[in-house]
Order: sequence, then C-alpha cells, then structure tokens
Amino acid sequence: SSSSSLSSPSSSPRTQMAATHNAAPATAVATAARRRRKMKKLVVVMGPTGSGKSKLSIDLATRFFPNSEIINSDKIQVYRGLDITTNKISMHDRRGVPHHFLGVFDPDIDFTPSDFRSLAPKTIAQIISRRNVPFVVGGSNSFIHSLLAKDFNPDIDVFEESGPVDSISSELRYECCFIWVDVSPPVLNQYLDDRVDDMLDSGMFEELSEYFAAEGFSGSSEPDSESVSRTGLRKAIGVPEFERYFKKHGGRCGESSEGDDVEERMSYEGAVKAIKDNTCKLAKRQVGKILRLRDAGWDLQRVDATEAFRAAMVTSKAGKRATEIWEKTVVEPSVKIVSRFLME
Ligand code: ATP
Repeated sequence: SSSSSLSSPSSSPRTQMAATHNAAPATAVATAARRRRKMKKLVVVMGPTGSGKSKLSIDLATRFFPNSEIINSDKIQVYRGLDITTNKISMHDRRGVPHHFLGVFDPDIDFTPSDFRSLAPKTIAQIISRRNVPFVVGGSNSFIHSLLAKDFNPDIDVFEESGPVDSISSELRYECCFIWVDVSPPVLNQYLDDRVDDMLDSGMFEELSEYFAAEGFSGSSEPDSESVSRTGLRKAIGVPEFERYFKKHGGRCGESSEGDDVEERMSYEGAVKAIKDNTCKLAKRQVGKILRLRDAGWDLQRVDATEAFRAAMVTSKAGKRATEIWEKTVVEPSVKIVSRFLME
C-alpha cells in the first residue's frame, strides 16, 4: 500500500471533496487517484545503525531491482572523510550501484535537514528521468522526515519527545514505500559492540589518528574542547570519544602495555567503551524516532532481521545459515513489498 496520503479517511481532503460534490464522488476519487499515481515513487529503507540497511539495499538493487540508485540519508556519511569511522559502504560493497549524497560534502560545514530537503529532490528527479527508482537509505530520520514531509519547518524539532506527534506532517511529497529493518535491541547491541571491534581491526584508530593530526592537535595540549559545539564531521561517533586520547598521547598505537603506558591503555579502552555505548544509544534513539513517524501515520513496513543477526553472531562458521535466514526473513519480504509498490 502506498503512503502518499496518510491522513485518516474521515479527515482526508479527498473524502471532504467527495462529500461536497455529492453528485460525482466517484469522479473526485478517480481524479485524486490519478493525481496520486502521478506522484513520483521512491523506496525508503530505514532502521537503526547496524541493522543491515545498506546490505539489504544492495541485495535489492543488484538482484531484483537493477534500475535502482541509492540516495544516502545518514547525516554523517554525507561528509567527505572518516570512511571507516562513519561506516560508509565501500566501493567494493556498492557493487556498481550508483550512490548519491555519500561522502561528498565539506566536513567542516554543517549539512542540515533543510539542505537535504532542498538538494535531494533534484537528484531524485534525475534518477526518475533515467527511468530508475530512487532508494533512500540511511538511519537519520531527521533527513528522511525533512525530505519527505509535505510540511516542514526547520525551526521545529518534530522528534522532541514532549512535542505533539501532529507536528509530523502525515502528507508526503512523494509516493513512498517504507521498509523498516528492525532488530531486537539486545541482539543489535551485541552486534554493535562487535562491529566497533571490527572497525578498529579495519583501521579506525589509524584513520582517527591521521584525522586528529590534520586537525592539528595530535599530542598537543590544547584546551579541552569537549564542551564546544561541533560542526560537520566532528560530530561523528569516534571523534569526541577519542579526542582526549589523541590530545594526550598523539598517534601512538594503543597496543603497548608497559609501565606508564598503562594510563594510555586505559584512555584507549575508555574511548572504545564510550564509542560502543554511544553507538547503542544512537540506535535506541533512532528506533524511537521511527516509532514516532509510524505513530504519525507513516505506513512503515517492518521486516525483522533479528534471527538473521542471531545466526550470524553465533559463530563465524554459521555464515551459510545466517545468509539463508537473511534471504528468507528480510530479502524475500522486502522484494514482495517493493514489487507490489512498484506495480501499483
Ligand atoms: P537524526 O536523529 O537527526 O535523524 P541520527 O539518528 O543519525 O540523526 P543523532 O541522534 O543526531 O543521529 O546522532 C547521535 C550522534 O551519532 C551524533 O553525534 C551523530 O553525529 C552521530 N552519528 C550519526 N550517524 C553516524 C555515523 N554514520 N557515524 C558516526 N557517527 C554518527
């Protein structure tokens, strides 16, 4: 089912129109349906960090919907730099699927939801003019909301928990198919902890070391800037957490365990723990925002990846079984949802 018109039937303009023009309600409904059909279609893959959105979108794009292009909606991955730390999908894993808004903006300047709202539609229009389908993929719900909501006010934080849900526009600028990749929180948290270790193994520490050296405070005694407001890429999880470490210890590798290196080791471990905690907190907040969009009437189709994650984490040898479960419980239902949507 489409989500282009999300308001309840009794309050929708379509119904009001039909009621006013009693003589030809069917015509009014048909006109509205025609207008809706003309709306541009896009697929949105949402979910918390680590839930497998990128993997799912590449599976869909390479095997089932070869005419798709991906628009990144992770607000940190839009910046150039820190590819490992921000977990950008690698060129290899993109498998030739075109990606937009990924690693392209100046890391020193904030790229805001309003910027995304004003720039992404042009890219979407170009994708559609190539007769391709835009897939919006990423965990930043403020970006998804700003892009899609018909009414958008940059001065209102629609995700403010105490604020009214009706500050979220239930009407959308596109005809959307939302896939929400869900993973049970304890399983996801375990996975996220392991992922931070994997990222460190893949060179996250070295990447941050170079980043801080370029920023000019490797091993320096600059005033503590942990409380200052950060712009652009400086907000990425990993930067604030490792700042104290690099200020004090410069680019040393964090692997030594002798004498006065004990303090360095503790500082390193503290930073890693903070990254794990903050990543889990980010995931929790993101799910809260997804639920809020759903409560506002956005027609999110949930696919549950928990079993696939469980299987993947038992042992690395469980790879084949995990892949089979991922196919059955995540890819297959998503293919059905997207196919139905595109054929409507
Ligand atoms: P929003 O809530 O605006 O939709 P979000 O869910 O991506 O965005 P926030 O809750 O604002 O994220 O982010 C919490 C912290 O996590 C911020 O410091 C943010 O910069 C950081 N963060 C978000 N995505 C990433 C990422 N891909 N890599 C590193 N840090 C990230």
